[in-house]
Amino acid sequence: MNDSFDIAIIGGGIVGMATAMALLKSGARSLVVLEAEHELAAHQTGRNSGVIHSGIYYKPGSLKATLCAAGREAMFRFCADRGITHERCGKIIVATSARELPALDELERRARANGLVRVRRCGPHELREREPHVAGIAGLEVGETGIVRYASVLEEMAKVVQERGGEVRMGSRATQVVSRPGGFVIETPRSEVITANIVNCAGAQCDRIARMCGMETDVQIIPFRGEYYDLLPHRRSLVKHLIYPVPDPRYPFLGVHFTRATDGTVEAGPNAVLAFARNGYTRDDVSPEDMGQLLGFPGFWKMARQHWRMGVMEMHRSLSEAAFVKALQKLIPEIRSEDVTPGRAGIRAQALDSTGKLLDDFRLVEGPGMLHVLNAPSPAATASIAIGERLAAAAERVFRGERALV
Ligand SMILES: Cc1cc2nc3c(=O)[nH]c(=O)nc-3n(C[C@H](O)[C@H](O)[C@H](O)COP(=O)(O)OP(=O)(O)OC[C@H]3O[C@@H](n4cnc5c(N)ncnc54)[C@H](O)[C@@H]3O)c2cc1C
Repeated sequence: MNDSFDIAIIGGGIVGMATAMALLKSGARSLVVLEAEHELAAHQTGRNSGVIHSGIYYKPGSLKATLCAAGREAMFRFCADRGITHERCGKIIVATSARELPALDELERRARANGLVRVRRCGPHELREREPHVAGIAGLEVGETGIVRYASVLEEMAKVVQERGGEVRMGSRATQVVSRPGGFVIETPRSEVITANIVNCAGAQCDRIARMCGMETDVQIIPFRGEYYDLLPHRRSLVKHLIYPVPDPRYPFLGVHFTRATDGTVEAGPNAVLAFARNGYTRDDVSPEDMGQLLGFPGFWKMARQHWRMGVMEMHRSLSEAAFVKALQKLIPEIRSEDVTPGRAGIRAQALDSTGKLLDDFRLVEGPGMLHVLNAPSPAATASIAIGERLAAAAERVFRGERALV
């Protein structure tokens, strides 16, 4: 087995794999993707809503806005080229009270600024024409949105990496990184990997990997669990496409929504509740190490002081099915507890800084011989191909020791 590479990517989720594809396309000669788990898509990439986001929500000019727009179209092309089931089904964002109208206006403005052309303002009648069971006073129909199963996308990306001469090593958790002349040694349970350059795409572990590589960063990953309910088969007809509320602009989450998947199933969720472990997919999962690190991070307490009310509300909604269903009834009043059953959960790797701010935008940073993805929550699955291309474009200069990202 070759254990010496030009580039090692730590983390084989959709961002790491898309970056590997782009680096190999732009001429990387020897590259390995080190993935901790034994199967692909064990974390965020395999546990998300499966939406190819339009980019309507993001601040114009931000990385999220630009990379989501480019990534969305690249994702549709990739799915078409590789025969992955997907659909450009569109979605609606529904305002249920007059208080939400200014935020809906702002989304309409952002849609124009972000170059969306298939966005239409709807009144209650048009909303019901599209989604007969929805209750709302106004809405936006967004035609650019689509759906896909991202685990399938990741499997295809891994094949492309191998077709282009890269290697994907499963069960290869990076446990230590040591600098050496001309590069690094990465320790994994299987072997020591010698590499000239590192790209850190480790999702919920990215801040730890950055520190392991000797980077100083003031961000810490805070895990927010998103829990879903499944609509029972005989009630799936309540939802034709995708139905979203108007999001609260104070938070980087979209609010519980209804999503139809490519296999016809319908999910409601996800909520956003603080998880007690970075891989804490159930309420009982507690990691003393993760919690100790979070509670010792000054930014956590600043965030908690500011947002504790929302935190308590989300916790209540996590514990009480009735509270969850009540949130869903805002969008579809006729939905009842007996129409849903608890489903799966995912963990968002959200970066928090030392001032207590939840980072809104993607964060890509560089160091000598290194690129680090330090914040890649939603819509990073949509944007993954564009994120990969952005990193690959910077890589040559960064790996020569120059600055390229800022
Ligand atoms: C509930 C939920 C809903 C979402 N909905 C959407 C959506 O509809 N549309 C959208 O675009 N985005 C959505 N997202 C966001 C999207 O899923 C993520 O932004 C995206 O998957 C991030 O990809 P990633 O590769 O950075 O992370 P991951 O998929 O988490 O991959 C990181 C990988 O790094 C590996 N790793 C960690 N530590 C190490 C180590 N030490 N050594 C080696 N490997 C390591 C992990 O095993 C993992 O496989 C959602 C996320 C969640 C949680």
